[in-house]
Amino acid sequence: MSDHTPDAIGRAIAQAENILLVSHIRPDGDAVGSLLGLGWSLKAAGKNTQIVLNDGVPHNLLYLPGSDEIQKKARQPYDLSIVLDCSELERTGKIFQDSSLPDINIDHHPTNTAFARYNLVESDSVATAEILARYIPQWGLPLPTEAASALLTGMLTDTLGFRTPNMKPDVLRVAARLMEQGADLPALYFQALVQRDFQAVRLWGEGLRRLRRTGRIVWTALTLEDKQLIEYPGRDDADLINVLSSIRDADIALIFVEQSPERVKISWRSQRPFDISQVAVRFGGGGHKNAAGAEVTGTLEDVQERVLLATQAAWESQAARLRQGEMLAVPAG
Ligand code: 5GP
Ligand code: MN
Repeated sequence: MSDHTPDAIGRAIAQAENILLVSHIRPDGDAVGSLLGLGWSLKAAGKNTQIVLNDGVPHNLLYLPGSDEIQKKARQPYDLSIVLDCSELERTGKIFQDSSLPDINIDHHPTNTAFARYNLVESDSVATAEILARYIPQWGLPLPTEAASALLTGMLTDTLGFRTPNMKPDVLRVAARLMEQGADLPALYFQALVQRDFQAVRLWGEGLRRLRRTGRIVWTALTLEDKQLIEYPGRDDADLINVLSSIRDADIALIFVEQSPERVKISWRSQRPFDISQVAVRFGGGGHKNAAGAEVTGTLEDVQERVLLATQAAWESQAARLRQGEMLAVPAG
């Protein structure tokens, strides 16, 4: 990213009239929060916007104002396209089928492939919503309460309520400014991170029933059968991975979610200093050091075996390096 990228993006937005906003498949709180945050801001600035998510808005985020206007396909012509929170263009799904490059890519994933004309990638930021919350005022765009609330939701969900290892004082300053714009932190926190559907908690039950531990790695799976039995509407893990990653004495947690008889979604979480992003990349996915994901072709059983072996190997090599580091740190004798 050149130093002028944020300015160039600000100018491009100022000159545009019809703006397309896009985020990733299997959208999370940062994807939807970033889209609605920038969307409400652009709307208040008098722009025509269309917000598109290949998979639509997940059931648990439909309470966010404006989410009912998000479409699954671009329906109107646009003169500027902005992709948010996507590490790769493929993560947008089938939105850009005409092989044209998106204009702007704003993201915080270190694995971002810089696929747009302007790439604003800040991997120090806890969420794409944080990047937007910092630049929207700089770009001279308004920040109505709906925008502030959506952005704060994105920051809350990607930091699990401001408790991920990447937290810094500045993140709270940004959050404080969003509160000053009218975002109701306790209410947004409750809606995004505490409240759950009955079916989601029942799905946890199935996953927790088959929880396993191998050394300092804990893991489980959710099958298509579980989903059917419980009538859980999503394709995700209902955030069960966050329960797994709360287990003491485990460095890595992972969950396998059967998407179809031949596709499996994997989520990894690690405690510092363990880094699981490279294992995810090796399986065609990506993410952050302590939170990554991938979708892999194969049966649940086959994918589980391959991914567990690779994850265990990664744990072992990192643990060995750590032990060496510790030994070096111990004074001789
Ligand atoms: P989750 O496990 O919650 O789906 O994702 C954790 C992190 O990994 C998120 O930052 C998400 O963007 C990233 N991630 C999840 N799945 C994929 C994937 O299939 N490809 C890439 N590149 N990143 C992913
Ligand atoms: Mn994010």
